[in-house]
Amino acid sequence: MITLPFAARTDGLVGSVIDSSTSLLAAQTHDIVRFAMGSPAPDSIPSQVLAALAAEELTRPSSYDYAATEGDPMLRSALLESLRGTSDETTDDRLTITAGGMQGLDLACKLFVDPGDLVVVESPTYTGGSAVALSYGAELLEVATDADGLDVDALEEAVAAAGRAPTVIYTIPTFQNPAGTTLSPPRRERLVELARRWGSMVIDDDPYALLRFAGTEVPSLRAVAGGDPLVFSVRTFSKTVAPGLRCGWVDADPSLSPLLINAKQAMDTCANMPAQRLVARFLAGGYLTEHLATQRAVYRERKAGMQAALSRHLGDRARWTDPDGGFFLWVTLPGVDTQELFPAALAEGVAYIPGQAFSPAGHFTDALRLCFATTDPERADVGVGRLAAAM
Ligand code: PMP
Repeated sequence: MITLPFAARTDGLVGSVIDSSTSLLAAQTHDIVRFAMGSPAPDSIPSQVLAALAAEELTRPSSYDYAATEGDPMLRSALLESLRGTSDETTDDRLTITAGGMQGLDLACKLFVDPGDLVVVESPTYTGGSAVALSYGAELLEVATDADGLDVDALEEAVAAAGRAPTVIYTIPTFQNPAGTTLSPPRRERLVELARRWGSMVIDDDPYALLRFAGTEVPSLRAVAGGDPLVFSVRTFSKTVAPGLRCGWVDADPSLSPLLINAKQAMDTCANMPAQRLVARFLAGGYLTEHLATQRAVYRERKAGMQAALSRHLGDRARWTDPDGGFFLWVTLPGVDTQELFPAALAEGVAYIPGQAFSPAGHFTDALRLCFATTDPERADVGVGRLAAAM
């Protein structure tokens, strides 16, 4: 038996239950209501507009060249324009175009996480984010959340108990994945204050802020931090345009740009050029603004539809959240092990992500995440009915 010379860091490659469900579901041959993946619904992908833009753009040989590592100028300027007036308004020297949000998270950890460093994650947290931190050898410190997002008092206590400052605080501040909660403005202030005190970087992973369908806008963490370089913002077009384009951006202090460029050159040279050009044209043509307005209305209706289905089929056997935007409902089924329930649910024809996947410490065994974005109210009713049958 040959022993291969694996790097020690392979111990930190834990994978993602969410991503693996793409192949698990593709292998099923029966009808399944898919509440598992956090993707826009097929009917929410602006494929006709993208195809028309592709017909214009993708006949040009230059659309297939390498792009500048920091991103194609066409996309960068369209992006700057589309962010004007939003809480994410920024400047060109802060932008790096990435292969989706995941690459932004990878770049952040590559720059700031050494093996053994303490990285704060929310409990529950997005599995992709914790997986990236683990892949760089982080020690995770899981801190409770409540209806207002990360519990900043609990954070202060947890760090005091750990006896050392975290290198990174990883937060999904708006319509959190998976809990759907939003970090309140006072907590945003406090989080930035604590990070300043500890000398920690805040990874501000906020893919859903533009998908608000109720309530009022809150300032981004970067806006709260003013010119302070400690906030590293990761953004993506995966939820607002299409995930398969693998296109996103990092907004970070300009002093980080040379390192980000070097790190990205050692990874993939540049983001996919045809995808960058398509997104650039989508933004510059004003389609994103239109598309977001439609999508917000769709998701508002789908959230309500999913909640109505939960009331109808599960009534007092379950509790669920009421997010003002994003894609997810976080459902608690007291007394039910949702991991154990999963094979029965899949056999009944419904898929979700068990709560435990969102907690490196293995909490939330009685919870699950449902993506409401993918299914219309009728289909959500079928899916939740199947979930009740599996229970
Ligand atoms: N962060 C969060 C909170 C997410 O929900 C997602 C997508 N599920 C990502 C990052 C990854 O985004 P992308 O698909 O653009 O890599």
